[in-house]
Amino acid sequence: MSQAKEYRIFETEVWLPYRVAYGETWTRFFEGMKEQKLYGTQCRKCGRVLVPARSFCPRCFVDTSDWVEVSQTGNLQAFCYTNYRYYGQALDPPYVTALIRLDRTEVDFVHLIGGIDLTSVEAVSSRLAKGMRLHAVWEKVRQGHILDIKHFEPVE
Ligand SMILES: [Zn+2]
Repeated sequence: MSQAKEYRIFETEVWLPYRVAYGETWTRFFEGMKEQKLYGTQCRKCGRVLVPARSFCPRCFVDTSDWVEVSQTGNLQAFCYTNYRYYGQALDPPYVTALIRLDRTEVDFVHLIGGIDLTSVEAVSSRLAKGMRLHAVWEKVRQGHILDIKHFEPVE
């Protein structure tokens, strides 16, 4: 005869505010954004340009030290349409997040797509397609934050 254990439980929420120090690499990357420039770092071993800039190549496990200003134009790799609210959400829906392969880089840059009709998934899906050209649209006032780029828009 088996006896199932019974566990007493309670439900709660954990609220964990925290701060992250940018460190040397991200500080330089975000200072560049203030100047409306995007910087990546290049791996000396495999040659990949990583953006946002990283202090090491996660493929080769070697430090990167060569800084490269990268293109603000690239190709759409994938996107996600969000039209619902959830706890802790940083943006008001609807919005589109995307993986964008900036020209002459080898990793996907994660950002928003805007300047298009976001009212329905059908409207978004009919406007966006894998491989289409996108370019960065900057905020007028920049603070050294990833949202200094307001969003990426289709290149007309
Ligand atoms: Zn590498």
